[in-house]
Order: sequence, then C-alpha cells, then structure tokens
Amino acid sequence: VLDYFNTRCAKSKEMVTEAKNFIPGGVQHNLAFNFPFPIVVNKAEGAYLWDIDGNQYIDFLQSGGPIILGNNYQPVREKVIELIHDCGPVTGLFHEYEYKLAKLINQHMPSIEMYRMLGSGTEAVMAAIRMSRLATGKKKVIKIGGAYHGWSDQMVYGLKIPGTRRFEAHGIPRTSTKHTQEVKPNDISALRRQLKLNKLRGGTACVIVEPIGPESGTRPVYKEYNQQVRKLCDEFDTLLIFDEVVTGFRMGLGGAQGYFDVKPDLTIFGKVIAGGYPSAGGIGGRKDLMSRLAAGLESGKKRAYVGGTLAANPISALAGYYTIKEIEKTNACEAAGRAGDRLTAGLNEIIDKYNLPFVAYNQGSICHLETAAAMFVKLGINIISALGEIKKRKHMMEEMGAAYLAEGIITLAGSRLYTSLADTDEVIDDALERFDRVFQKIEGV
Ligand code: PMP
Repeated sequence: VLDYFNTRCAKSKEMVTEAKNFIPGGVQHNLAFNFPFPIVVNKAEGAYLWDIDGNQYIDFLQSGGPIILGNNYQPVREKVIELIHDCGPVTGLFHEYEYKLAKLINQHMPSIEMYRMLGSGTEAVMAAIRMSRLATGKKKVIKIGGAYHGWSDQMVYGLKIPGTRRFEAHGIPRTSTKHTQEVKPNDISALRRQLKLNKLRGGTACVIVEPIGPESGTRPVYKEYNQQVRKLCDEFDTLLIFDEVVTGFRMGLGGAQGYFDVKPDLTIFGKVIAGGYPSAGGIGGRKDLMSRLAAGLESGKKRAYVGGTLAANPISALAGYYTIKEIEKTNACEAAGRAGDRLTAGLNEIIDKYNLPFVAYNQGSICHLETAAAMFVKLGINIISALGEIKKRKHMMEEMGAAYLAEGIITLAGSRLYTSLADTDEVIDDALERFDRVFQKIEGV
C-alpha cells in the first residue's frame, strides 16, 4: 500500500507534505485524513473522483453525504452557474429561491411548517437548542450516546473523537456541557428515567436524536424507538428534535421522519439540503416555535437570535431547490438505496467467501462496513473497556481505508460508504471486484 502512495500518488504526496507548513495537518477537512497521507483531488464526475496524479476512484465518501445525485451533477451545476452569472454569489438581501426552497421542503415534510437557513448543521443544532430553551423555559438537553450533532461546545459532550479518550473534549469548559446529558442508545427506559429525574430539577428543553441511530446509523435503533421517544417527549412536555443532517432527502424525500412516521417538533438539516454547495444547514419545524427565529422583530415574542453573513446565500437556496427537484424527477433516494443494498449484499458475500470477521449493513444509501470491531470480537478483546484498543481500531480503520484507496475506492474513514444516483449496477459490481482484491489479501487473518 505504501508503495502505491509513494509512486502512483507522488504529486499528492509532495503537495500535502508542503502544505503541512501552512495548514495544520496539511489538509483543511477532517474527512481527508486518508492514511498514510491524503490524496489531492481535482476532478469529480458522477460516481468518480480523480486525483492530481490522474488516478481514478469510485467515490463512496460523497463529501460525507451531500452528493445523492452523484458528483458535479450537471442540471444543478448549470442552474448555479446561471445564478452566479446573473447575480454573483451573494447580496445579503432576499432571494426568491429562499422562499421556493422553504415551500418545497414543507411539501415533502409537513412537520416543517417553516424553515430557516443557516450556515451548517452545527449552527442549526445550536439554534434548535437555544430556541427549545426559550420556548419551554427549561434547560436540560438529552442526546443519545455516540451521537454526533456538530462541534459546538455543548454538543461535543460525550463525543468519542476516534483514537482519543472518551471525554477528551479539550478547550471546552465544564460549564458549557453542564446541561447536556447522554442516555444509552436503544434504551427507552433510560430515557424515561432521565426525563423523570430532570422533571424534579427544572425539566428538559429537548431530546435530540439521529433517527436512524447515533453517528448516523453506526448503532442502529429498533424500528419503534423513534415513536417511543416521541411519546415520552409528549408525556414530559419536552421538544423532540430530529437531526436529519444525514438522512434528510437521502432516506427518501420525506426523510427519516417519513420513513418512521414520526412528527418531530424541530428538524435539523445539512448535507443534501444544498446538494453539496455551501452553506448547507438549516432548521425547520412548528410555526409557533420557528416564529421565535424571525429575522425581523414583528413576531412580538421573545426571539432566539441566530445569524450568519452567508447563511441564506442564493447559491445554497437555489442548489437545494434544484437538488430536491432532481431527486423528485430521478427517484434518486430509491436508486441510491438500491445501490446501497447491492453494495452491502455483495460485500457480505465477499466477506463470507473469505471467511472474514467483518460485517456490512445499510440503511438505504447509508452503508457501513465494520472490520475492526468485528475483528476484536473474534480475538476476544473487549473494545468498550480497553480504551487502548480504540486507538488500534482507528489505526485498523485507517489501514483498511488505505487498502481500499489503493484499489481505487474512497470511503468515509474506511468504514462508511454513501451511494448515489450515479452508482449503477456496473459501478457497484466494479467496486465489489476491487473490494474482493482487498479482502483476498487478508484471507485467514
Ligand atoms: N449532525 C449530524 C448527524 C452530522 O452527521 C453532522 C455532520 N457530519 C452534523 C450534525 C454537523 O453538520 P455540519 O458538518 O454541517 O456542521
């Protein structure tokens, strides 16, 4: 694998090595940490990416999730270019697509009575929590263990940064996470207990969940879980926030809330909501709550302040609108879901063929390939108690990621794969042949 990087990725290696002098770690994006060093990409089309050395890759990273239509999707790109030609990137004033996007989201997800664009998923979560506290007069926020809701001080609580100790949230004062609580995933009694306890101490402003399970589906939840959480929130007069940054317009046009038939009070969006164009984030939900985020002062109610110079820029509004329109036209969520099913089934066949202690599973186009944890289980290592092993796991995931990369497959950290409309049967079958070549080499491990 190292030979591959040193020879076939020589230009990438040189650039990243030099970039380390000016950019911390040599790259600007957390997801670009490909072991042993990142590749530099300068071309993207459909299911593929190309690096500056001219190598072609099948792209299952999809920028971490926004690219449901495939890379550099022409119909949306053309609309964006037209907009920039006519109006430039931003004016700071109202643009018609802000309204069109909000209305379109409402058509597909009726719980989103109103929508406000923000700069990222992280910001939208911050806004949801602030608004929940204002609306309920309560302070506590309950999240589910292992969930990721962005990198704000209050939400990094309990976040397992890969390869670090569990609560290693450096630079965050304890007071910032004073009102953030975590309960175990899939444990509805634990949530009830926490809500009950909080009731005696001022109450819970909101419960925030990733509806397919923490860290978007890495720890899947049983089917009725979300409905049970909804019921508990009603019982304890607490707001339910769905973080649909990953699932929104990926699991289907109705999002995870449509799939599970649950109506959250507030929903967080990111990723697909701007089709990969910046700035991708927003919050939507009940009118009475959303009116507290009014940009003007006409609501007459106390307002939860949110802002952002480029939050509601015309590019993201227009790109979001046409991305959703193209998903409608092409049934992209279903097509990507079928590609995810084919990829996952194929991966499990190869895993069985070589008798490896790995497993692949998916929720539609969100696919997971677990290699390290399954290996630890086989070796009898308790990964929960052995913190040192988590470091090893990260290393193993990176090594697997590098092995896939050397065969021309890009994954998210070696363990997650997103599929898109561009992933035809031919692309998936090609990818499976490449995976076969990687797994062949570790047969019998
Ligand atoms: N919530 C979830 C479930 C996410 O996956 C992410 C991003 N990976 C976020 C929130 C944060 O979104 P952003 O990166 O746009 O701040």
